[in-house]
Amino acid sequence: MASYDVIVIGAGAAGLFCAAQAAQRGRRVLVLDHAKRIGGKILMSGGGRCNFTNMYAAPENYLSGNPHFCKSALSRYTQWDFIALVADYDIAYHEKTLGQLFCDDSAKAILKMLLSECDKAGVQLRHPVEVRQTEKTDNGFSLITSHGDFDCQSLVIASGGLSIPKLGASPFGYKVAEQFGLNVLPTRAGLVPFTLHEQDKSVLAELSGVSLDATAECHHTSFHENILFTHRGLSGPAVLQISSYWQPGENVVFNLSPSEDLLGSLEQQQQQHPDVLLSTALAKYYPKRFVQVAIDYFVLNNKPLKQFKGRQLHQVAEAFEQWVLKPNGTEGYRTAEVTLGGVDTDELSSKTMESKNVPGLYFIGEVMDVTGWLGGYNFQWAWSSGWVAGQVV
Ligand code: FAD
Repeated sequence: MASYDVIVIGAGAAGLFCAAQAAQRGRRVLVLDHAKRIGGKILMSGGGRCNFTNMYAAPENYLSGNPHFCKSALSRYTQWDFIALVADYDIAYHEKTLGQLFCDDSAKAILKMLLSECDKAGVQLRHPVEVRQTEKTDNGFSLITSHGDFDCQSLVIASGGLSIPKLGASPFGYKVAEQFGLNVLPTRAGLVPFTLHEQDKSVLAELSGVSLDATAECHHTSFHENILFTHRGLSGPAVLQISSYWQPGENVVFNLSPSEDLLGSLEQQQQQHPDVLLSTALAKYYPKRFVQVAIDYFVLNNKPLKQFKGRQLHQVAEAFEQWVLKPNGTEGYRTAEVTLGGVDTDELSSKTMESKNVPGLYFIGEVMDVTGWLGGYNFQWAWSSGWVAGQVV
């Protein structure tokens, strides 16, 4: 049986980063992954350019049963630490928007950097390997795998969440947690497009490809970014963001005029151009295709502006500014960027990511109940949680 100080299961962002840190401390580290091709998510991320961190990453940008849990790791290994590493490797990057940092060229550079950090420090990486059994021993853990048996002092679970099964996602980490008696919180898809009920879809599907500036609000949390109509439902950054806060059966409130006083503008147009049709007036703010569909969908009367009496223009503005939508559901793990829930942070030390009750067992990255917003926050959690574990395993 081959022995290691540390075995990391999962060669994704968190696993590779943690492995490199531990090996740089002189630990003998083995990383196992069941995927044929590793780093699939990194390569696919940020549309192939990897939004590898966010300049404004802070605990407020994370959802978790314990919102304080992420503070320690995020403050000990910050976005600026990772940015410095990226700069050391001469990887060119830029801020796209809202502090989101992307590679100028390709996400391949980030994967190459992680593999190089592992390689320099002597990490052994094996894949595809199926981990069939994990057991606690007197000195640590033993593993039975498709490539033989291994033992180690520290076992790090970095197997991620359930999003995008075709990239190798599996419930492995949750099963290991349960095997060792750790609580696992219910999981659900996050950062995921909404699907619509038939009555909404039959009208709105026509808008596939239309994108609007909007705010999306749920549970007193609101995001101001774009929304995108698709042939299945609604997507775009504001929708992905709010999907992590939404629970089945709930409403989402959209303001489709977040930067413009729509009522004031319509009233002004009414005075200046009283004979203009509502659709013409609205086409000043929205794509024509959207206006035509919206007039039907919101059941508005497309008459000349002068014929809108009393509160009728208020009602028009309200339809756009307080559009209450009850999504049918989400597209689920097939397209979700992240998995909410997972290994309960109450079971783990926030300083090291070690299990409080099973010494030597660590969970890092997305497998645990810490989920970031869209915009580089999830990779930053992978780096920060991987780094703190890497200092002690
Ligand atoms: P992963 O990166 O998912 O790695 C888990 C690894 O474990 C995988 O290699 C998997 O093969 C392996 N594994 C799973 N089960 C087993 C098993 N049974 N045995 C052995 N190995 C196993 N976040 C950002 O911050 N910025 C972005 O630009 C961004 N873009 C994204 C785009 C897409 C399409 C998706 C799906 C996600 C994106 N994310 C982004 C989220 C981010 O990729 C994840 O939060 C992050 O990769 C989590 O890192 P991790 O190491 O915990 O898990």
